[in-house]
Amino acid sequence: MPLVHFFETSFGRTYSRDMILVEVVSNGVSGWGEVTCGEHPFYNEEWTESAWLLLKNYIAPKAAGKTLEAQTAGQLSAGIRGHKMAQGGFEVACWDLQARLNGVPLWREIGGETRFEIPCGVSIGIQDSVDQLIEKIRLEVDAGYRRIKMKIKPGWDIDVVARVRAEFSSILLMADANSAYTLADVDRLKALDEFNLMMIEQPLAHDEIIDHATLQAALSTPICLDECIRNSHQAAQAIRLGACRIINIKLGRVGGFAEALRVHDVCFQAGIPVWCGGMLESGVGRAHNVALSTLPGFTLPGDVSASKRYWKRDVIDPWVEVSSEGTITVPGGPGFGYHLDLDFLASVRARLETLSPQ
Ligand SMILES: [Mg+2]
Repeated sequence: MPLVHFFETSFGRTYSRDMILVEVVSNGVSGWGEVTCGEHPFYNEEWTESAWLLLKNYIAPKAAGKTLEAQTAGQLSAGIRGHKMAQGGFEVACWDLQARLNGVPLWREIGGETRFEIPCGVSIGIQDSVDQLIEKIRLEVDAGYRRIKMKIKPGWDIDVVARVRAEFSSILLMADANSAYTLADVDRLKALDEFNLMMIEQPLAHDEIIDHATLQAALSTPICLDECIRNSHQAAQAIRLGACRIINIKLGRVGGFAEALRVHDVCFQAGIPVWCGGMLESGVGRAHNVALSTLPGFTLPGDVSASKRYWKRDVIDPWVEVSSEGTITVPGGPGFGYHLDLDFLASVRARLETLSPQ
């Protein structure tokens, strides 16, 4: 699916997405999940093709014909190291199916709060010019979004953040580096302290908790960890070491709802606020993120934003919409609460594989 506008991070530019949707069927009812990996193994080790093989060769053959509960469906593939996004695509589909079979909304099935709305932020990629970035931020602030996240990398950081802050003195602003720095850049990152950022997200290596603890001790700006936190044990370690003051939770990165709930609980008990990160999801992944964001520890606006910011046409009906106050209304229907646009899905589908117990 082509993106409305390219999205650039420190990894490079994305113009369109190849995504895997997982459908699990029981008693004629379907549950849907999305694999949130990218087209290339740059965010983590997974990519669309690796996830396809993992699902086809390992997960689906184990799942077909089994009696499962969503709470423990992830354990089916517990012997597989890594590849959490492929595993998570299956696991979240099981939660959606279970909620639909129980006739309740997904947010209720996972233990979320009765919240009618969730606060939304946006993530804005690196642009061709600072003027262009400022123009995009103005558009999103005017649309009502509660928090602006800008991507940074060496050379697109201090001066750019300074200009954005000068232009928008009071907005909730944060920066995401996607691991573009090392401890040799402490002074450069310290220079960002004066801009009153809510947080700097994942400045150092994707698998480096200890260096983040060293950096956090040198910064007044809170560090938020993203790539580093793949499970609740790592969340507990990062908190214990003082490596971050905020954690971003992504369903795919931690392998689905069961582990996301455990990460949430560890953070909640430690008083660490969490928020829901985004992976340029289609409406399916977006709807799962809305449900996740109803948990009580999600006190900061997440990267869950409107379908139309990303897609000319989304795969769900209705689309995810954001109010002029920057909120998404949590749907009340069973499962994740949106319908699949099956006609459109068929028109953009490149591959389909069905595995059954037979
Ligand atoms: Mg991030």
